[in-house]
Amino acid sequence: MAERLKVHVDPDKCQGHARCNALAPELFELDEYGNAHETGDGTVPPGLEDKAWLAKSNCPEIAIDVIEE
Ligand code: SF4
Repeated sequence: MAERLKVHVDPDKCQGHARCNALAPELFELDEYGNAHETGDGTVPPGLEDKAWLAKSNCPEIAIDVIEE
């Protein structure tokens, strides 16, 4: 069975570069200040796992967690 992933943005660390949203717009939404939060409850739809890891590795603030369930 494929792993199920969730993404989570730490709002205390996020500085609003919006890279995550540029790389994975399905997984991250931006608020009016450009700070990101995960879409819905953060569940990564099948097929978007690579984007979740890509966003995590490209966040300059290390604000993104990818949780394997
Ligand atoms: S890339 Fe990181 S710091 Fe930038 S908006 Fe996304 S979570 Fe926030």
